[in-house]
Amino acid sequence: MVQRVSSRQMPGLRMATTIDASKLTVTKTTTPKQKEANADLLFGRTFTDHMLEIDWDTENGWHDPKIVPYGDFQMSPASSALHYSVQCFEGMKAYKTADGDIRMFRPDCNMERLNNSMERLALPAFDGEAFMDCLKTLVKLDESWIPQEEGYSLYIRPTAIGNSPYLGLTAPNHAKLFAILSPVGPYYPNGFKPVRLLADTKNVRAWPGGVGNAKLGGNYGPTIKPGNDAMKDGFDQVLWLFGEDHQVCEIGAMNVFFIMKTKDGKTEVVTPPLSRGDILPGVTRRSILALAEESGDFVVSERAITMNEVHTAWKEGRLMEAFGAGTAAIISPINLIHYKGNDIEFPTGDDIGPVAKSFWRQLCDIQYGIKEHEWSIKI
Ligand SMILES: *Cc1c(COP(=O)(O)O)cnc(C)c1O
Repeated sequence: MVQRVSSRQMPGLRMATTIDASKLTVTKTTTPKQKEANADLLFGRTFTDHMLEIDWDTENGWHDPKIVPYGDFQMSPASSALHYSVQCFEGMKAYKTADGDIRMFRPDCNMERLNNSMERLALPAFDGEAFMDCLKTLVKLDESWIPQEEGYSLYIRPTAIGNSPYLGLTAPNHAKLFAILSPVGPYYPNGFKPVRLLADTKNVRAWPGGVGNAKLGGNYGPTIKPGNDAMKDGFDQVLWLFGEDHQVCEIGAMNVFFIMKTKDGKTEVVTPPLSRGDILPGVTRRSILALAEESGDFVVSERAITMNEVHTAWKEGRLMEAFGAGTAAIISPINLIHYKGNDIEFPTGDDIGPVAKSFWRQLCDIQYGIKEHEWSIKI
């Protein structure tokens, strides 16, 4: 039985309501790790020498941030992160440019989203700029880990956990915000490999009024088995749907885009809307929408799209391209959707479509500082 107890404790007199980046302490490792060759990097398997930790409790607020050697945590086995998934995270990247600069892509968006996720879990608010200042120090300290080659980057995983040492289902009175860094290679080292999707009519990832719009760890664990089942059947990923009319949500852990010809011959860029609350507001999604809008070449639509509509557009020859969008792959082209026994095949086949490729190129150019843009921040 989970007991509900009062969640509000009296705050201490000197409670720090905000992270103080000027108090950041750095303890360097005395045993730096051996680095791997770029070609051997696997996503999220290799971590750099240091990590960032900032504790919080109701009495003292945010403690002084600290950078320490990468290593295991000690935490109470009663922590709410372990029992009730009081955990959320972010995924962002630092890029080393040809000039040797380090850049980050719209990090303010990640800070805002992490604050939203934490709020949904009754975790404390934090000052995004102060956390970013600490992250920048961490990234610069471990700068030698950022592979300098196009397509390579340093994946940054900020994470927040509730770690109150009790089982009551209440707002945590202890929390930890931390960040670890992992050098990563290109998602498609040998050119784009379009994915085959299974439109899942059994499992649902997120729904209106749910928490699909927050990056809560609890949203992801349950997607592993449906993903594995789809792979056993020869598909790469799941296309998530919801509702009796099978509205399209997302692909695996990416936002989804369709490129279609409208009935009057225009090219429409379509992605499901954020208004329902079942879609994760991706930074890549938002950036693609802005680029599409700015180009003037498209009808840009954030609107509901059902599998029926996708199927009809395909039958009428109006379905041009589809792709997933997210920080890890940037753009992941789709060549097939299997839905209720039918294969919907895209005319782009084993290649990336021209619209997807253009967005991919524009995003890479901005991320690697090839094109100067306000989204790319030199740190
Ligand atoms: C993180 C994530 C995305 C992509 O977000 P980006 O900010 O573009 O990396 C899309 N969908 C889900 C479910 C995600 O977790």
